[in-house]
Amino acid sequence: MPKATHPAAQKIAVVFDFDDTLVPDSFDHFLSFLGLDPAEFRKAKYESRKQAGWDAIPARFYSLIEYSKAQPPEKRITRSTLMEFGKSLQPFEGVSDMFTRLQQRVNEIAPEISIEFYLITSGFVEVARQTSIAKFFKAMWGCEFHYSESGEIEFLKRSLSHPEKPRYLYYLSRGINYSDDEDLLFVYKDVPPEELTIPLDQIIYVGDGTSDIPCFAMLNQEGGMAIGVYRNSSPEEWAKHYQPSQNQRVINLAPADYQEGSELMRSLTLAVESMCKKIQIYQLSHHE
Ligand SMILES: [Mg+2]
Repeated sequence: MPKATHPAAQKIAVVFDFDDTLVPDSFDHFLSFLGLDPAEFRKAKYESRKQAGWDAIPARFYSLIEYSKAQPPEKRITRSTLMEFGKSLQPFEGVSDMFTRLQQRVNEIAPEISIEFYLITSGFVEVARQTSIAKFFKAMWGCEFHYSESGEIEFLKRSLSHPEKPRYLYYLSRGINYSDDEDLLFVYKDVPPEELTIPLDQIIYVGDGTSDIPCFAMLNQEGGMAIGVYRNSSPEEWAKHYQPSQNQRVINLAPADYQEGSELMRSLTLAVESMCKKIQIYQLSHHE
């Protein structure tokens, strides 16, 4: 009898976007933290650069670097400014308990399966690393500053644009350390399914849509799951704004409320449970 050849990895990954998915937009909040008017700053510094042909990520980061350099030394943006801001950034309701809740659910229905959490952001990953929820993530990827000797922001050291996000899902599925150039080439090689660390069809991705469409599309294609969240709008507005095509769709679109019993929490729990059951079915065919 032919044996099923699906990977035996007993792991599920839940991957989150950061801004507007787990926390309010950290760029705008950082501007307010500096005492600036976000809308004004965006218009004067960021929008004009984008119109002049800049990519969104360098435009955003350079605007901050330029602002910082124009300040007297004591008011410049430093590593500690970002760290202090990160500590003050509050996640949406219920986020802090969500990780343990999902973990417990997996323990109840499939103790042999482990669940891991990851973060992929096009925003400041160093800010995300200072938040109260950082400890729940196995890895966090995003843009990073290079600092001068005195700790001031000086350049963008690592950039992670929206279309690049799916690349990190590949890293994850293949257990790759992204900082190694050799590994970067390896990402594009074919790897037999049984050698994958976490197969893409055992990944759930949660995002608010602005930067997440490429990841939604990739997981839909690979048999993973995409969940959309929205804030300050309705599902209809969300769909109208993003106009997702068939392969960019999400299995559920819910308000960014992670409290117990919320639609999003129910949706996440069901997604995790169904992944567990899928893995258990694969295990059956491997142990016959
Ligand atoms: Mg977002």
